[in-house]
Amino acid sequence: MSADCIFCRIITGEIPGKLVYRDDSYVVFFDVNPKAALHLLICPLEHTETLQDSDPEIVAGAIRVIQKLAAQLGIEDNYALQINNGEESGQIVFHLHIHLLSHDEEAVDKARALVDAV
Ligand code: AMP
Repeated sequence: MSADCIFCRIITGEIPGKLVYRDDSYVVFFDVNPKAALHLLICPLEHTETLQDSDPEIVAGAIRVIQKLAAQLGIEDNYALQINNGEESGQIVFHLHIHLLSHDEEAVDKARALVDAV
């Protein structure tokens, strides 16, 4: 955990986040400034700053979470992923995260319904 990191503070509950998924290693929450109908961030609990710094196994685990969640939300064939690596690429939060974007409006309602269950 890093005290200065906004995503670590969402993970600890110090800052509110709209969480749709949580397990022992990952959280998934709504992006506060969505770039698609559905814009989620998949975030390892462990703090690493960039993809380049991160254990590939942690990234693989995040992909497993995404596959499971995509099936649950009914967007198996309708989502895109993005990882910004480094300031020049557009990264603004230095805690590894994967953007999941989908234009499926129904998935938004399904994801919102998960918020209270986490
Ligand atoms: P990146 O450019 O890959 O670092 O993306 C960081 C993302 O985090 C942006 O899409 C922001 O809108 C999002 N973001 C920043 N602060 C928060 C927050 N408190 N809760 C949810 N999303 C956030």
